Formats: sequence, structure tokens, C-alpha cells
Amino acid sequence: MRKIAVYGKGGIGKSTMVSALSAAIASMGYRVMQIGCDPKADSSINLLSGKELVPVMTYLRQHKGPAKLEDVVTEGFGGILCIEAGGPTPGMGCAGRGIITTFNLLEELEAFEKYQPDFVFYDVLGDVVCGGFAAPIREGYAEDVLIVTSGEKMALFAAGNICTAVQSFEDRGYAKVRGIIMNRRNIPNEAELVHAFAKEKGIPVIGDIPRDDRFQIWENQSKTVIEGDPSCDLSATIMALAEKVVKGTY
Ligand code: ADP
Ligand code: MG
Repeated sequence: MRKIAVYGKGGIGKSTMVSALSAAIASMGYRVMQIGCDPKADSSINLLSGKELVPVMTYLRQHKGPAKLEDVVTEGFGGILCIEAGGPTPGMGCAGRGIITTFNLLEELEAFEKYQPDFVFYDVLGDVVCGGFAAPIREGYAEDVLIVTSGEKMALFAAGNICTAVQSFEDRGYAKVRGIIMNRRNIPNEAELVHAFAKEKGIPVIGDIPRDDRFQIWENQSKTVIEGDPSCDLSATIMALAEKVVKGTY
């Protein structure tokens, strides 16, 4: 089992990239689990084509008795096991807490032992890397961290904060930032900016994803591009990145 945490600024395309990677890796025949760690709880929406998924925090608020795995895990495209941490009632309590609560519940219910996934993706908001949001890179949850960024200043700023947070746990032998996925916004000199950042941090750029309307076209049908049009050039770009992730050759 390989556990991979994907971080990046809000709105940068994490869920789009993670869902496409999950779909690509599932279509290679692997068992994939995707855990949404953004209080928005929309990580796996495009893997579920309209199927309902109850975020863990919502489930726990609405039910008194102990949860079962089936209550919080929903199978999506390619048998991908989808889980959303969700968050507290807006304005009440800490968003990061939802992630910790979710991890504790999955451990208690022995989710990894039961489903035996080959790959687990954590889709994590990287604007603030406080306790809860750092949870996937602590306590041995994820060994690989990937960062999604464009060349935009604020996206690179968030990426820098994530690198710092990961480094501060590194001496405990946990996660390492293995690669940067450049998700283009088509700003001037974008590749140069992202590569300069990557060089400074000593991290490889492992993917170059074009800005492409087809992501939204398929999203409007609640699908990833991999499900919508597996043989198109955009899917081929994602498949190539997925192969790198599977082999761990970053
Ligand atoms: P995040 O999970 O980081 O908050 P999302 O994955 O939800 O961001 O993406 C935000 C929006 O940007 C979505 O509507 C998505 O379709 C769009 N998007 C992401 N990456 C691309 C891209 N490479 N080309 C076009 N649209 C994209
Ligand atoms: Mg998201």
C-alpha cells in the first residue's frame, strides 16, 4: 500500500488532479482509495457520477451509534473507495479537526485492513498547514507528498509553506515532498516560474498539465476526463503521470 498526500492552494486543481490520477490508476487495475481532506467535501464528486456520499463529519453529527465503514465509504468509478472528511458546521469549530476525527474513525474501523487498497490518496487543502491539515504527513499516514501548483504567486506561496511544513516533520522519518504537478493557468513565463521554484526546493516537476476546458466539460457531467474520454490526448498526459506515481519514479 502506498499512501500519497496531495497538497496545494484552494482552487488550484487538487481534486481534479487527484480524481484523474485515482481514475487512471484504478483503470490500470489497482485498488484505489481517495480521502478528501478539504472541508468542502467535494474531492471525489467526479468519481461518483451523482451518487450520494455522506462526509464523515456530517455522518457523526447526524448519528449517535457507532459508524460502519459502509456508512462513510462509497465506491465510485473503477471501484475507487471514496471518503470525505467534511468539516464542522460552518463558523463552529476547527476545520482541521475533521481530518483527525476521520483518520481516527478509519483506523478504528480498520479501513485499510478491510479494503487493502494498493494506493491511498489524501486530497488536502494547503492554504494553512495547521495541526489537522498536517495530519496526513504526520504519524506515518502518507510517505509521499505531491504539490499541485500553477505559476501564480499565491499558489507558489502556498506550495512553499507546504514544503516548510513537511520539512519540519522530516527528521521523524515521515513524509517527503516527492514532486510538483504543474497545473497550468497560462500566466506569462509559467513554466520558468514553477521550475525555478522546484529547483530552489530541490523537488522535481513530475507533471505538466495544460489548462484545458475538457476538465470542466467532463466535470459538468460529474466525470473525470479519464472516465469521459480515456483515449484522448489529455487522458494520455494524465496516464503518463499516473504511471510515474505507480512506479514511484519521480
Ligand atoms: P481544488 O481541489 O484545488 O480546490 P479543483 O480541483 O476543485 O480545485 O479545481 C477548481 C476548478 O478548476 C474546477 O472547476 C476544475 O475543473 C478547474 N480546473 C482545474 N485544473 C484545470 C485545468 N488544468 N484546466 C482547466 N480547468 C481546471
Ligand atoms: Mg478540492
